[in-house]
Amino acid sequence: MSILRRDPTSYGWTIYPEEDFQPPLSPCVDQPENPPETCPFCAGHEDQTPPEIMAVRPPGSDPNTPGWRVRTIPDRNAVLRIEGQVGRRGEGLYDMMNGIGAHEIVVETPDHHGLFSDFDEALLSDIVWMYRERMRDLVKDPRFRYIQVCRNYGVRAGARLSHPHSLVFALPVIPRAVREEISRAAEYWQMKERCVFCDIVNQEQTDKGRVVFQNSDFIVLEPFAARTPFETWILPLEHESRFLDLADEKIVTLARAVRLATRALASELGNPPYNLILHTSPIRVEKQFDMQHMPLAEYYHWHIEIIPRLRELNGFEYGTGIYVNPLLPEKAAARLRGVIDQNHAG
Ligand SMILES: [Zn+2]
Ligand SMILES: [Zn+2]
Ligand SMILES: [Zn+2]
Repeated sequence: MSILRRDPTSYGWTIYPEEDFQPPLSPCVDQPENPPETCPFCAGHEDQTPPEIMAVRPPGSDPNTPGWRVRTIPDRNAVLRIEGQVGRRGEGLYDMMNGIGAHEIVVETPDHHGLFSDFDEALLSDIVWMYRERMRDLVKDPRFRYIQVCRNYGVRAGARLSHPHSLVFALPVIPRAVREEISRAAEYWQMKERCVFCDIVNQEQTDKGRVVFQNSDFIVLEPFAARTPFETWILPLEHESRFLDLADEKIVTLARAVRLATRALASELGNPPYNLILHTSPIRVEKQFDMQHMPLAEYYHWHIEIIPRLRELNGFEYGTGIYVNPLLPEKAAARLRGVIDQNHAG
């Protein structure tokens, strides 16, 4: 008999059929084709991008010259623009606003052929630091309500260029996915006066079957109602609502957790396309979500979701929001733990 499971943070259902998942046998070749010669993100091509916003580079070296390790630039084809007013307005029952926001690219390495899952701890720490610093900078702009950090790897995951990069968006709205998580977390708090994510961390530490890896600050796990095979979450063990408050000493432990998770997925699935999504507390509008005795900061818990894109969604899934996942998260977690043990990583 197939089973249905509900995710307590989204109320999303997933169906697990009886038959077992067969992983792709050959590595998934799914990269956008752009050669280093014409790549605007490669070292030496700094003049082919808009001027950099922020970079990790040796002291004294000039902006927009080679020598950087991680470099943030505005997207030349930005879907949101930084200049102007939000201009919220209605047209009858319909709401509109101007496409105001930030759309930045974090170029994660000067190496065109670098693989995120092969990055060392130092580089991943620089990247995590960059995410935090971009958030700390963008939060100052009163027009923004949410900052979205994500990483698209592979064509199926939406990547347009093969050079390793991730994206930072500052939005004048709160994304639906985050709003739903906040609503569910608020309901949970109203019932139990506890953070649902903290409860998940505690229960998974007890159950152990879905835990992939844990260090002093972070846990990597396969969620109870994983939407896709090998959906993987990374959560801070201690309750933290805003990613931008990440303490300096946790940058390296987060980098380690991200490294372990992406290495294990790459090794088990042969470099699959995936989306890496950071969910954190909205900014400036926290008050809107504060209810009596219940500030948002106490019931919402930031986390990272990694979603391998092993196939396209079908009409049933688009239409219902119910996913069909042929691999139980317990089995996925066991396989990822096996890969980590084999590699003696950690
Ligand atoms: Zn490149
Ligand atoms: Zn929590
Ligand atoms: Zn989430």
